[in-house]
Amino acid sequence: SKFVVGLTGGIGSGKTTVANLFAEQGIDLVDADIVAREVVEIGSEGLNKLSEHFGTRILKLDSSLNRSALREIIFNNPTHRDWVNKLLHPLIRIEMLKQLDSAVSAYTILIAPLLFENDLDRLVNRTLMVDISTQEQVKRTSTRDSVSQEQVHRIIESQAPRAKKLQRADDVIDNHGEISALKSKVIALHNNYIKLSNNA
Ligand code: ATP
Repeated sequence: SKFVVGLTGGIGSGKTTVANLFAEQGIDLVDADIVAREVVEIGSEGLNKLSEHFGTRILKLDSSLNRSALREIIFNNPTHRDWVNKLLHPLIRIEMLKQLDSAVSAYTILIAPLLFENDLDRLVNRTLMVDISTQEQVKRTSTRDSVSQEQVHRIIESQAPRAKKLQRADDVIDNHGEISALKSKVIALHNNYIKLSNNA
């Protein structure tokens, strides 16, 4: 299966919820956030190179990556940040392509919160955005996680603007309604993706 749909949307928009509905239809999922964690697992090339470069200060006692230590090092240091990006981005890309390649369903969903921001849309055949208002994003995210509304606003501001994503996405799934209303929208999209993947 080589037809890939990139699934995106802002924080708390409902990407996971929508992805699970596609999975119910038998569609394989690849999650860019999970891949990004896998490439720095204990024993990985990514983590080995990070610790060779920055030393044990970026490791926890159990020798896993200390994310907050790494974040602090690259924060406000473009040289360090560029070095880390040049190391990890290709590793993430290769692992993502590997997982997409081993998927067996008619088409595959790549879940990527920063699909457009990180130019991952170049790896996919079609893009799908889950859309809700900023107000609803803040409400749902702060209900789900114990984070402040200010924190959610900061994350939203670090992501591409909603209007930009709406403009770039091939398909948009409106998630203002009840979760139950999503299922029929997903099935309609699914049928179209089956058709598109057959013609690809
Ligand atoms: P993130 O980017 O933070 O990973 P996400 O885009 O994957 O978030 P979800 O986790 O699917 O979003 O949804 C965010 C929260 O909103 C969850 O608690 C989910 O159960 C809830 N939710 C999703 N869709 C709806 C809906 N239509 N109505 C009410 N709550 C919803």
